[in-house]
Amino acid sequence: MEILVHKGTHEIGGTCIQVASGKTTILLDVGLPLSADGAIVDVSQLKVDAVLISHPHQDHCGLMDYLPPNTPVYMGRLGKNLMDATQVFLGESKHERDFRHFKAWVPFEIGEFRITSYLVDHSAADAYAFLVEAEGKRLFYSGDLRSHGWKGILFENLVKRPIPSIDIMFLEGTMMHRNNDLFPDEEAVEKKIVEVISQQKNISFILSSSQNIDRIVSAYRACKRTGKIMVIDIYTAWVLEQVREITENTPSMDWPEVRVYASHSQDERLKAAPEYFGDFRKRLYLHRVKSQELQSDPSAFLYFGKVSSFRKIESFKKAGQPVNVIYSQWLGYLDGSHADYFGCDEISAYREDPEVNFIYAHTSGHAPVEDLQRLAAALNPKILVPIHTEDAAGFSRSFNNVTTLRDGETFVLTQAGGLMPEIMSAECSWERYIIKRRELLDNWSDDQKKIMKQLAEKWIYIRVGGDKYRPVSIHPDNPCGSLLKRLNGSESEIGGTKSLDKALTNAEAAAPANTKKPGNQKPEHVVQAGLIHHALTHDMLLTDRFRGFSQFFDELIFITDELKAGDIRADIIALGGKGGKYFPVFIELKAIRSKRVIEQLILAQQETAKVKPVFVEMLAKGTGKTSISFEDYKLLVVWPKASSGKGKASVAEVIADSRFESAKGHLLIGEFEKPEIARDGFHSNVENPDWANGKFLQAGTSH
Ligand SMILES: [Zn+2]
Ligand SMILES: [Zn+2]
Repeated sequence: MEILVHKGTHEIGGTCIQVASGKTTILLDVGLPLSADGAIVDVSQLKVDAVLISHPHQDHCGLMDYLPPNTPVYMGRLGKNLMDATQVFLGESKHERDFRHFKAWVPFEIGEFRITSYLVDHSAADAYAFLVEAEGKRLFYSGDLRSHGWKGILFENLVKRPIPSIDIMFLEGTMMHRNNDLFPDEEAVEKKIVEVISQQKNISFILSSSQNIDRIVSAYRACKRTGKIMVIDIYTAWVLEQVREITENTPSMDWPEVRVYASHSQDERLKAAPEYFGDFRKRLYLHRVKSQELQSDPSAFLYFGKVSSFRKIESFKKAGQPVNVIYSQWLGYLDGSHADYFGCDEISAYREDPEVNFIYAHTSGHAPVEDLQRLAAALNPKILVPIHTEDAAGFSRSFNNVTTLRDGETFVLTQAGGLMPEIMSAECSWERYIIKRRELLDNWSDDQKKIMKQLAEKWIYIRVGGDKYRPVSIHPDNPCGSLLKRLNGSESEIGGTKSLDKALTNAEAAAPANTKKPGNQKPEHVVQAGLIHHALTHDMLLTDRFRGFSQFFDELIFITDELKAGDIRADIIALGGKGGKYFPVFIELKAIRSKRVIEQLILAQQETAKVKPVFVEMLAKGTGKTSISFEDYKLLVVWPKASSGKGKASVAEVIADSRFESAKGHLLIGEFEKPEIARDGFHSNVENPDWANGKFLQAGTSH
């Protein structure tokens, strides 16, 4: 499973998580960043098989319209209907996408993924968390959630009956630096509304979002308890109609304590789209309340409005009997930095207005840290990744197994359950790997090849990974191992970077290549490192090292190393040349004689054949050669010479094995003299050139 968070690892909103498995790629949310200066993900360039929307908040679905036109979009049906409602009332056309709807808790499939949606409690209706399964791995994405709304039971169910065996969990952390102490839950908000409206001498306004259904419910319940009438606008009434299709338990305009105030502009919207609204306009007029009614007995009403309702509020101002304005959303909107949010400044000014009694009553749509801790403890993921948060770094103080990711970097969830940068991984798709390798080879210039040669003389090589460059050691004492950078007395391991120039700079600054020895130093790595070293210092040619194969190729040009995708792998990819014709050579190096190696190499060739054009392009990019015949490929296995004794197959016998029938005429086997291995593990030294430099003794082939 390959994971790339395009955005959202270090901010609230703008969330966009890409998950890929085999040939299937999906996005979890396509959010618009909340901060005005936030860079926007260019989703129009993303070729994905589907997009899953957790809930209809802009910071999770706001980039939907920029997706390539035919991308299927999965979301809850109510969520989609609520989105349509917003569009129509804004006078804009509905989103024209290939929408698909799922049912809560009912698994469905998208290509290689099995998805289960979990309805959650949030300030948006129809909000979901997702369980995403593939390759035997389980990813859980929380979306936005909380436990303290009217649907808090959904959160408690997740805690009480946790989904088992979660490998990786993306957990939202909006509240890492915010608290909810003033109004810990919707009940507290309701209580405050009751307190205000039961005493009111004039009308009360409550300002919130019409799509915050829980808040409408709280306001309604407060009205019911105090004998007041809740006034909603046409848009809110229409939103409630949508919710009504799902549940009978939310307030609706035909309930006795609810009336609709019909403004001219909203009524125009109804008239403009009769086919969309059906008989709603007709029914609506049975439940209207007019301005005169409100003005004649204002203390009988609670008006559910938005910050843009300030003109309406103005019309009720009376000296001596202040209008109650219950501000019931995030206070941050009033800090003066949300100029594009119409009405904020006017509402903010009410805090100083003697004719207005400004009251704050709001509970967050997001779980406070203690609740998130309960959820994390219950699901107990092997890896917990912060998302939708301004304090990813602070997560490790509150949670176990935290791994912080960065936007734009690809990671792979390995079979062993770890999360590693793609460059080090062996689990991502072969084709993706080759495509990226080809793209990155575009960046090699002749100048850089010269620098590469100088680096090789210092036993350093820049390995091209999934989408990064990483300097590694090719010293026989640290073959294919990490390099260290020494800065101000401290040492750090040099990682991968997307910039080739940066990788070159890091390589220049590296400590001597033999200074860090990896734990599992493998003998074949010595051969591999030796071959790479030879290629870089000999115009990319490996020809000298494979003299035993001169009947098969006059030239052997190094292209790249370490192509890996699960069981599909090749240690070195080279381009062979014979009589002016070129063909790919897949090379595998092994310190043991195992027929499994041959099977792996055959698989690598077969998989590569499926993506032949891109592979051949990569070979051409790496060498400048053009007449490349993929069909003349060679598989070259290099392993130790058989020690004498019974049951040790000769090269000829190995090659005659019927399992390798499909590789007939393509399979070559080279042998080398195995060096002495010291008791404390593998010992190599530069003085043993046959081994350390990969000089091979024998060759055989199948004809
Ligand atoms: Zn959000
Ligand atoms: Zn949200």
